[in-house]
Amino acid sequence: MASINRTGSNAAYRPAVSTAARSVARPPPPRPASTLRPRDAFVPSTGLRGVAKASQVTPVKESGPVTETQVIDALKAGKTDDATRTMIGDYFKAQDMAGSHATMEKIRQEGLLDTFIQATVRDENGKPPGAELTAGLTRCMETGRLDVYAETLATTSISVGDYEGKLEYRPSDNAVVLDQNALGDTQNLANILAHELFHAFNDAHGGGSGAINEGFGIAAREYAFTDGEYNLAEMVYGTKNFYRDFNAQPDYPLGDMRNADPKLKEFLDAMGGRDSSLLAWENPAQLEREYQENFEGINRAQDWDTWLVAVGEATTKMLDARGEDRIPKPEEPAPAPAAPEAPKNPIQNFFDWLRKLIGG
Ligand SMILES: [Zn+2]
Repeated sequence: MASINRTGSNAAYRPAVSTAARSVARPPPPRPASTLRPRDAFVPSTGLRGVAKASQVTPVKESGPVTETQVIDALKAGKTDDATRTMIGDYFKAQDMAGSHATMEKIRQEGLLDTFIQATVRDENGKPPGAELTAGLTRCMETGRLDVYAETLATTSISVGDYEGKLEYRPSDNAVVLDQNALGDTQNLANILAHELFHAFNDAHGGGSGAINEGFGIAAREYAFTDGEYNLAEMVYGTKNFYRDFNAQPDYPLGDMRNADPKLKEFLDAMGGRDSSLLAWENPAQLEREYQENFEGINRAQDWDTWLVAVGEATTKMLDARGEDRIPKPEEPAPAPAAPEAPKNPIQNFFDWLRKLIGG
């Protein structure tokens, strides 16, 4: 989970142009659970048991989902208390990538980004962020490209302190911990945050662990702070070889993103859109095979530039072997298990019994 020191790969920061809010249809608010199921309305007076009466059904909660107006109004009022944090977290958890971006655009345009960071970010002890951490988070969130992290800021703790040099996301605590050596250079801190917060976001949305998690965490930094293409195969396969060649972990897994939920999938697709290697991350079997055929033999514990040349050649070989159609196909979804036969309701049972009785 820790950031790997990648010599020579720190691209200079160029502020990314914040794209205009796309007019993507917002998801409709979730429908409240019906208080009355249809069958309850037709309880015949035949003494049938086991049918819930309407009065026994739990009443619907009065408060609806948090709205964007509530979020903006709270920030305009300068609210940064824990209840506001919870409210903002609830709001952004319900947003997809476009919805997160649209609201963060408003927050930035209204000059509320600093208040947003003070409202959402807490350390392990519930304290708001200091000046340097705020500056690093501002650098991340002003790009407009990491807006899916809005919910992560409101739900994952970020602590800076004496962590023996460690920079990592701890899944068991849902906590990002940064040794104070992360401070001193705002862009370096922003790079680290873009990476570690990816792990937190990935963890909350069904993402896999291993090299694919690390590789996309590296891509998140490039995606946020640069505009060109990058080589995702280098990032993912390079992580696998890094653990083998530097950390003596030959079994370090490649991992997969099979269980990524739609919001994580959107973010992965966005990052994958700038991948010059067309890595088959959506097809775990192909991902594994192409690793073995092209990248497994390359030593990661060598001069960075020599490594990059070898990776470039392996990437070309991989893509050439795909022939005409270089775009990898996603894994076929597993066939859905046969749905169990729905139990008949008591009324149906009654009619079946009646039908049998009259010989229908
Ligand atoms: Zn990491």
